[in-house]
Amino acid sequence: MYNIRGDKMTGLYIHIPFCKSICAYCDFYKMVASNALQEKTIDYIIKELDKRKVSSYEIDTIYIGGGSPGSLDESLSIKLFSAVLARVDMTKIKEFTIELNPLDITLDYARLLKKYGVNRVSIGVETFNENTMKKIGRNPFVNFNEIKEKITILNECGINNINIDLIYGVYGTDVSVFLEDVHLACMLNITHLSCYSLILEEHTILGYQYKNKKFMLLDEDLEAKMYEELIHELPKFGFSQYELSNFAKDGYQSLHNLKYWKNHNYLAIGPSAAGFIDNMRYTNIKNLNEYFKGIDTGDFRYDECYECDISELKEITLMMNLRLCEGINTLAWLERFHEDIFTSYPSIKGLINDGLIIYENDYIKIPKKYYYISNYIIVKIIE
Ligand code: SF4
Repeated sequence: MYNIRGDKMTGLYIHIPFCKSICAYCDFYKMVASNALQEKTIDYIIKELDKRKVSSYEIDTIYIGGGSPGSLDESLSIKLFSAVLARVDMTKIKEFTIELNPLDITLDYARLLKKYGVNRVSIGVETFNENTMKKIGRNPFVNFNEIKEKITILNECGINNINIDLIYGVYGTDVSVFLEDVHLACMLNITHLSCYSLILEEHTILGYQYKNKKFMLLDEDLEAKMYEELIHELPKFGFSQYELSNFAKDGYQSLHNLKYWKNHNYLAIGPSAAGFIDNMRYTNIKNLNEYFKGIDTGDFRYDECYECDISELKEITLMMNLRLCEGINTLAWLERFHEDIFTSYPSIKGLINDGLIIYENDYIKIPKKYYYISNYIIVKIIE
């Protein structure tokens, strides 16, 4: 038998599918909804916490994302936080993150977060440049000074572990525009940066505009250059890259997201939320009425739910683990799968000879200069 779980502790993700306005590029399951629908959804999320027996798991990280969890009014926020605290042993929680839009951060709300044990905030900044913001259709624009003030509010309430998201690869921008965003981000009192390239999904507003030739894709070489500059610049400001798109100051890597990249266990609650428990992968249905019906009947409705066989488990673990700069610990692999990684994937040896994979100190990893083609290398390993 192999040790499927990889780690005995579990993460908890809760998806809140509501926003105050919709951004043109956004592919998450979200909507603008009435208070009544928001309240009903929170009630069902709480029911799902019980139906999935959340209180029976040993949970050490919580992540409330969306959507915009900060768009819930105070009474719904309290209802949700209280329900979580009643079901999770908070003494074991190492990290409790909430995703927020900058404008949702107020002194009262920050105090509320602190009271309920939130110790990490992830702010969707995306860019400090008003033109870039307009191009991606994110609303409303919040400037650098306002973001700085919001972070000060969080700090004053004792929340000092703060991530901001940045976006790059936007048509009509260039390396200098993006680097200005990066440098401004580094002037903030933050511990973590997530930087993702703009992806055009078909069913988003931007995807539609692209199809109708009203929005363009950035030249691939320019996007690669932006990424190269990003990973070159951030270490100068004390941020170490630990994942292809993520950078942290010492001791501030995201413990919850590490569960995804290490393919460890995480429960997922809420419509569209995706979880991995033992060898089961599931994605809750992206349809509120169906989601409610599933909770009522106990017959959960999914967009996807399947039990991974051993080869899928290895493949997912490999793909996710190679996103980490440290790569795959070959001893942990052996312990988890009872098989040497070079037996699991014989092609790794050839890639080491070609210089596309490094093997040192019991880790195999992708060399930094090849991060931008990591997908190509991963495909080479598993094909
Ligand atoms: S990017 Fe964030 S705020 Fe904008 S629509 Fe998506 S979830 Fe809502």
